[in-house]
Amino acid sequence: MSFSTTAVVGAGTMGNGIAHVLALNGLDVTLIDVSEDALRNGTDTIAENLARQVKKERITAAEREATLNRVSTHTDLAQGVADVDLVIEAVTETTEVKGPIFETLDEAAPDHAILASNTSSISITWLAAQTSRPEQVIGMHFFNPVPIMKLVEVVRGLETSNGTHDAVQALAEDLGKTPVEVNDAPGFVSNRVLMPMINEAVFCLMEGVADEEDIDTVMKLGMNHPMGPLTLADFIGLDVCLGIMEVLHRELGDDKYRPCPLLRKKVTAGHLGRKSGQGFYAYDG
Ligand code: NAD
Repeated sequence: MSFSTTAVVGAGTMGNGIAHVLALNGLDVTLIDVSEDALRNGTDTIAENLARQVKKERITAAEREATLNRVSTHTDLAQGVADVDLVIEAVTETTEVKGPIFETLDEAAPDHAILASNTSSISITWLAAQTSRPEQVIGMHFFNPVPIMKLVEVVRGLETSNGTHDAVQALAEDLGKTPVEVNDAPGFVSNRVLMPMINEAVFCLMEGVADEEDIDTVMKLGMNHPMGPLTLADFIGLDVCLGIMEVLHRELGDDKYRPCPLLRKKVTAGHLGRKSGQGFYAYDG
């Protein structure tokens, strides 16, 4: 199956990036959000990021214009997905928000449509169970910033069909990404490996093994990581890191995934990383 009309639900950090790459590759995209402001910010961000690509001579001004013309917006979920081949959901990371969205998608999207989720940690099998088409539900886990990062984890729920998997994998390749097939498990591969490393770095800091900069320097120079784990945690958001550790701990039931108390304390204090101006490091502006 190939796709021509798509919808992206959620116009935030990930949603606008996903809409950007879909539209740049010739697909019509309806960007859907409950918030008019989010839709405005989302389309502004797409326009700015495309302008940057024109400046770097990666695309032409005409391609930018054509890409923007392929993106429309909607605040009504059911109407926005009424005529699409593929939906990619990228809304707030809670089951309370995502569950009802999958119920509505199942009712409102055409029978043939594939329903994908960009979730970082919620079970694809659980999302599929909110619908009557579990074989057409799949994870399509992009990375931030979407136009630049090459990886897509293509996550198979328990009942995801081979046809759904193959269509989504082919799409990811058409978008210039490298898809990796992953089975549905807490944190998939990316966050199952990354988050415990970040959490362990926070334990090192809490226990006074080394200070922030020295922990980051060890991992940068010793392991050739492009940035240290505490700098990376500030980029991702400490609340996001804590949320994923809680999912790993709860779902896998192993205390090796217990969130570090210092990570929890930082989140409680509102020190969420770059987005709040303070995390493991302080940021100006
Ligand atoms: P975000 O907060 O930037 O955006 C979420 C958007 O969802 C907001 O614009 C919000 O208005 C919208 N929304 C909330 N409820 C809605 C509803 N009922 N209907 C329509 N829109 C609704 O979040 P984000 O960082 O873009 O994350 C989105 C998803 O992508 C999450 O599942 C997250 O786990 C996943 N993800 C995030 C990253 C990352 O680095 N930020 C990376 C990979 C995956």
